[in-house]
Amino acid sequence: MRIAWTSVQKQKLIELGADVALLEQTFENPEVRNSAYQKAEYQLITLNKRNLQDLRNNRFRSLACQLETLLVDRLNQEGFVQVVTPIILSKSMLNKMTITPEHPLTKQVFWLSENKCLRPMLAPNLYYLLRDLERLWEKPVRIFEVGPCFRKESQGIYHLNEFTMLNLVELGTPVGQQKIRLRELAAIVMDIIGIENYDLITSDSEVYGETLDVMVEELELGSGAFGPHSLDEQWGIFDPWVGIGFGLERLAMVKEGHRNIRRVGRSLSYLDGSRLNI
Ligand code: ATP
Ligand code: MG
Repeated sequence: MRIAWTSVQKQKLIELGADVALLEQTFENPEVRNSAYQKAEYQLITLNKRNLQDLRNNRFRSLACQLETLLVDRLNQEGFVQVVTPIILSKSMLNKMTITPEHPLTKQVFWLSENKCLRPMLAPNLYYLLRDLERLWEKPVRIFEVGPCFRKESQGIYHLNEFTMLNLVELGTPVGQQKIRLRELAAIVMDIIGIENYDLITSDSEVYGETLDVMVEELELGSGAFGPHSLDEQWGIFDPWVGIGFGLERLAMVKEGHRNIRRVGRSLSYLDGSRLNI
């Protein structure tokens, strides 16, 4: 009977970024396996070091940072204005998204005090800004933010407790055009990142009603929604709109073919996808 990697070996190989084929290899006996391990570990360490050298000498910014710049530049070209809003969110703003005690997201919120939390999403702040901007600017009003969001997650390879959300919203999209526009905006973001194979799946969200999810196989890269919507009135919004939010680390993860989002997130163990304790 053939044998697999030991759990310690497997864990180390995962940390170093081994692909599925390598992880699933089997061996005749422990000696063959252990010598294969040493070879694989050496090769992966070399790859990680090479990437870190390339970062040091040529690229200077991690892929996730570079993707952010590409997104910002292209969205500016598409007429979207970048906004920067507070990371600390009041409970009343959260409640206006119907994230009340009964909602599943409530358990994921990091509270700083009784009435302040770290934002789990950008939508409340963007809603708030739109109300003023629609008075001040001609429609369509196009804005986006890219910045940290926080959710208590039970770990896993696709979830971080702190991640970077890109959320863009357009107020004043012609009625009847919202779904088409949402698809266009999803296509723009996928084009910037260079992801060609993705699916758009319609589903129902408790917070946003009908949503359009951008999927790569089983992984959700982004969620879009559109209005008029039941939440709009309490934010003083009455025009049709479309909005879509992406996790930047998920985009970077798919782009690089990483299996674990931790490689591209805020980290003390990884830099630009490379393991540091090597
Ligand atoms: P999922 O169902 O995958 O947990 P979600 O539907 O709860 O995601 P949304 O609220 O739709 O997430 O947020 C928009 C996008 O933000 C997601 O499509 C995903 O790319 C990203 N995102 C959400 N939560 C996280 C997280 N904990 N870590 C990394 N990215 C996240
Ligand atoms: Mg979603």
